[in-house]
Amino acid sequence: MKINLTRLLTPKEQIARWRENIPDLFNGSYRRNYDKAMSGKSLRAAVTAKCLDCMCWQQAEVKNCDVITCPLYPYKPYSARQRSRGGVDTKQMEQKQCPAGI
Ligand code: SF4
Repeated sequence: MKINLTRLLTPKEQIARWRENIPDLFNGSYRRNYDKAMSGKSLRAAVTAKCLDCMCWQQAEVKNCDVITCPLYPYKPYSARQRSRGGVDTKQMEQKQCPAGI
């Protein structure tokens, strides 16, 4: 396969190519969510799309994400923490990292 390096993709083509690489799971819900995010009308969809991308499109990995330094962490989907919007519960994170409390 020949690759034409002289032709750069337009922004529209880049987005279309990115979208093609999103796994076609759950009746295309990941792609629909991406479309919603890219429409600029939903920050929630944008956070969901970014978190799924970050965790290789594995919902369970997003749910279990414990990168508390990430600015999206308080808003990440698939967790009660996201719904409560209570911010980062550092006390809970400390207990998670050290159940014995030592
Ligand atoms: S909150 Fe976690 S899953 Fe979401 S972007 Fe940050 S590190 Fe990735």
